[in-house]
Amino acid sequence: MAAVSVGIFGGAFDPPHVGHVELARVGTERFELDRLLVRVVEDPGHKEVSTSPQIRLFLAELAFAPLDEAEISLDPFPRTVDSLEALALDDPVFLLGADEFAALSSWKDPERVLALARLGVATRPGFARSRLDEVLAGLERPDRVTFFEIEPLPVSSSEIRSRVAQGQPIDGLVPPAVRAEIDRLELYRRVDRPEDGGMLRGEPTEGTTPT
Ligand code: ATP
Repeated sequence: MAAVSVGIFGGAFDPPHVGHVELARVGTERFELDRLLVRVVEDPGHKEVSTSPQIRLFLAELAFAPLDEAEISLDPFPRTVDSLEALALDDPVFLLGADEFAALSSWKDPERVLALARLGVATRPGFARSRLDEVLAGLERPDRVTFFEIEPLPVSSSEIRSRVAQGQPIDGLVPPAVRAEIDRLELYRRVDRPEDGGMLRGEPTEGTTPT
């Protein structure tokens, strides 16, 4: 029997948006994944989140529902390497966007990450291939990294939070079911939500890894 190929796609998903879904969809095709473990990082540590892990899990379940291979769960590990150690999968592919890969040197133990998983790096607007090649050149195991193209979708969770807080529409930026729940639950309406124990400034946080 052929081995099952497993992918992992981790993120804060605060909220999940069309860029995430496109990355997951194309990545699943590109790497012929039988399963895609979508991991909602409970406490991303390095980035601000403004909603609880349970809300983000719920929104991710809605966003990735159309993808048959997706299995959505919470990830208790802030750092990718610890998550991969705990999952102990046989040669998984870890999917990520170019912004996260560009910050790879700030991750906890990047070479161990590459030993535990191959990386499938999706293009993201604003992150030139030349910059990614520089990061690649600094790795002991560049053969473990594959770049793949997705439709360029210049969208980020921080932009969506900012737009909602300013009363601007987010149609087309998040899946319709996610938009409906953001409306119904009145998420992201305020710039600061200290009562949630979180902060929301509406500023892009791209490249502020480590992960
Ligand atoms: P924020 O705006 O708060 O920084 P984000 O939009 O980057 O959030 P994350 O949940 O941090 O969302 O991202 C999860 C993963 O999805 C990361 O690997 C990131 O690189 C990737 N990703 C997010 N948005 C895009 C996009 N538009 N195109 C390609 N990859 C993306």
